[in-house]
Amino acid sequence: MRKERLTYQDLLRKLLAGRLLQRDERRTAEGVLSVRDPVDMALRLGGLLEEVADRGGLIRLAPRSGDEATLRRYLDPGTNDNWTVELPGPRAEADSTETAPTPARLVQPVEEIPIVPAVPSRFHDETGEPFDTFFTSFSPCKTPEEIAAALEPIRTQLLERTTATDVRFHFLLDDGADLVAVPFRGRPPTEFEPLGDRVRTVVLGRRRILHVPNLAARSVDAQAGRTGALASVPLVSGDRSTGVMEVVRETSGPFDPEELQFFSMAALTAAGLVERAEVLEKLIFLDKLTGLYNRAYFDDQIDREIERANRMGTSVALLMADLDHFKQINDTWGHQAGDEALAHTGSIIRANIRSIDVAARYGGEEFAVLLPSTTRSRAELTAERLRRVVADSSLGELVPELAEASLSISLGIALYPDDAATAKQLIDRADRVALYAAKNWGRNRVVSWAEARDANEELRPGR
Ligand code: GH3
Ligand code: MG
Ligand code: MG
Repeated sequence: MRKERLTYQDLLRKLLAGRLLQRDERRTAEGVLSVRDPVDMALRLGGLLEEVADRGGLIRLAPRSGDEATLRRYLDPGTNDNWTVELPGPRAEADSTETAPTPARLVQPVEEIPIVPAVPSRFHDETGEPFDTFFTSFSPCKTPEEIAAALEPIRTQLLERTTATDVRFHFLLDDGADLVAVPFRGRPPTEFEPLGDRVRTVVLGRRRILHVPNLAARSVDAQAGRTGALASVPLVSGDRSTGVMEVVRETSGPFDPEELQFFSMAALTAAGLVERAEVLEKLIFLDKLTGLYNRAYFDDQIDREIERANRMGTSVALLMADLDHFKQINDTWGHQAGDEALAHTGSIIRANIRSIDVAARYGGEEFAVLLPSTTRSRAELTAERLRRVVADSSLGELVPELAEASLSISLGIALYPDDAATAKQLIDRADRVALYAAKNWGRNRVVSWAEARDANEELRPGR
């Protein structure tokens, strides 16, 4: 690990350059930076860091044995930077959290506890550091299985170092959408697993830990046959609740306060990892020019959607769209203007589909749109809407020299499983059959595979 010594000013500048601070904290940091007196500056900086730690933006690390009481240690979960900050002492309350005896607690059947992420010293590893494996670097994850593999080190740490006997993660697909349980090795994925109302309101809504020391004794929404202890910890990332981490112990009895802090820490790390994975995934699978997904992502996604349709008994529609006479736009107004027209078309597509639909740039000036859980008539409506919005759009506002250009797309539609038995056949029928017919029949139109096939059969001699 690289070490550098920073002045208070350096640290403040670093904070202002990074993404850790929220808007009001940023303003505070700017104010602190302009303070003249170094002691005053340090004290205010200390206050700011504590504020950030209170909302979970920074993790407080326990002081090492022998540390001065004036040292505070923090971990920035976004960058994995470890900071040791020396504040002008003496400060009476500096290490009170470590040394104060834990007050005896009256254990309620169901407790709501605020999130206080920390790695209490008893969970540190042999070197006295809060183990690196917790903070492994992260490669992009697409499937629940990949996310599960990336979260495995966190789960292992919890199982090894605490009394927990199982850990599960549940993620929100979209804000307000259903939760998806992320499976772990050897366990089948349980999609859309229902969680209790209490978890929804307390954990996701109020972002507090729900601690149930004795599942069997719990009267509210007790699930039949469940025994042992449970802690439901919110996965919070920025100001978003992204899911729930559920920690279970087979035997009943309360988790101790340090374990609960450690769970908070694990949940915070997990939420951070997944958020970073989302960002990375977006960067790797996005087409720069159009802002849509790229071909690689589409190829992957079509298989997943087909698999999901098989499992859920729903259908998936595929729209293939190609710009009409695009060569003419390039030839008349230049390649750059052609690029602008492509970007414009991409943004129109994005604005006119649902969030669960997947729109990709399939080739040069060809687009593919996957519509999961869609009927034939809805797919036709969507295709027709896209066609109309592109044809009605005015390019002149964007690129003045394109004011005279007319832009239109032709679309082909095919539906899985009704029209095709495999992903390959679905693409072939939407693209090479239906879209091809749309071009042949005059462009700026929508043709479905069934229409194209019927027309072909009429033309075929002897039928
Ligand atoms: P059609 O109506 O039959 O589709 O006519 P078209 O002129 O669009 O024909 P076609 O689809 O075969 O032509 C594709 C053209 O798109 C050729 C290529 O120069 C242009 N093109 C492909 N990718 C890009 C790109 O990234 N930028 C620009 N500006 N042009 C592209
Ligand atoms: Mg074309
Ligand atoms: Mg083409």
